[in-house]
Amino acid sequence: MFRRLPNPSVLGFRFNASTFHRTMTSRAVLHASQLVTLSGPKRPRVGKELSALRIIRHGGMLIRDGKIDRVGPSDEIEKNVGDAEVVDAGRRVVMPGFVDAHTHLVFSGNRLDDFERRARGETYEQIAKAGGGIWSTVEKTRAASELDLLVRAKQHATWFLRCGTTTVEAKSGYGLTVEDELKLLRVMRQLKEEVRLEIVPTFLGAHAVPRELSPDEYLEVVITEMLPRVTAEKLAEFCDVFCERGYFNIDQSRKILSAAKKVGLSLRGHVDQLTNFGGAKLMAEMGATTADHLEQTDEQGIVALKKANVQPVLLPGSVYALGSSRYPRAREMIEAGLAVVLATDFNPGSSPTPSMPMVLSLACAQMKMSPAKAITASTVNAAYSLNRGDKIGSLEPGKLANFAIFDCEDYRELAYWFGIPQTHSVYVRGDCVWNISTGR
Ligand SMILES: [Zn+2]
Repeated sequence: MFRRLPNPSVLGFRFNASTFHRTMTSRAVLHASQLVTLSGPKRPRVGKELSALRIIRHGGMLIRDGKIDRVGPSDEIEKNVGDAEVVDAGRRVVMPGFVDAHTHLVFSGNRLDDFERRARGETYEQIAKAGGGIWSTVEKTRAASELDLLVRAKQHATWFLRCGTTTVEAKSGYGLTVEDELKLLRVMRQLKEEVRLEIVPTFLGAHAVPRELSPDEYLEVVITEMLPRVTAEKLAEFCDVFCERGYFNIDQSRKILSAAKKVGLSLRGHVDQLTNFGGAKLMAEMGATTADHLEQTDEQGIVALKKANVQPVLLPGSVYALGSSRYPRAREMIEAGLAVVLATDFNPGSSPTPSMPMVLSLACAQMKMSPAKAITASTVNAAYSLNRGDKIGSLEPGKLANFAIFDCEDYRELAYWFGIPQTHSVYVRGDCVWNISTGR
């Protein structure tokens, strides 16, 4: 059914998805304890819709040519198996693969020293002074070759698949020169060819101001040199900016986002993470697709997001890992009618986790979201925030067969048992790309 690459250990770790070759054209998934379909209106879910998982108990699913052909009770699907290969879900939960709408997938090195300093109680400023912080990742990433970065990124991609995630948004932002930002985006393009995790690229040249330039000088580079190259090479679908005191202020952020919009990129933004800086309002003004973080966003910011239909992307993993207790106001956002999204913010500094189940746990325990709402926010709503709501995020006929089987009988267990992996197997376009028994 699959074969290994000629020399899988040459790069120091096991390959996973790329070792699988598509041979089957149809599959039948039978005997799911719960088939969590998330079927419903063809738009992001709001209000009470966030709780409607549309579960088929003892469910099944027929897959043809990588797409979902039909879903229903397992008995009925079984009658239509024909020549399809049967996947026995063994009374486990089957649900759409997680869609992680905010990650920093490609970088070099780690921030273990920062982590230990933080554990000793040192502040962000003390850590930066000691040579830590984002700048240390930028230096390591600049020094790395495309191949080095690709090898690391493949390892990260494997981690995501192991957690049941089948699509990730991935940002550049650790290069901060024209060539280094392009290098990161090209690595993502290459990664897409080599792994079965689906990747949506975002240009985040305005992640920080490099030490060698003033903020305004760098702004000019982002707008007049980076953006034209990124769009000419079609390297990104979205443009993002870190709008925060000490990074890019409202005016500078507006300039970057306006320039990106003009060249046809959709917009996302890191806003109101450390201070209530007016970033949510800016994203509403710009007609952005998402406003991300929002830990400090107030009621007016929430109202602005609602008026402009901007989707909030909440990142409780970074709040947790930074040892903060100020989580975003998820319940108020849901009550205001916002189509909330949950994501990991996977990055080496503030959120070193690829685990969406961990994010579900944090969303339930710390942000008081129900398990059902958290699952909607990390699947179908996340898919819409990546302009892919028509293709992924729910198990409905016509959509891609991107799904995960979890080793539990009730979907709530995913958020309840934290710290233990429950992924049994993961499928992308109908193909098994990760399985617990083979570990790849
Ligand atoms: Zn981020």
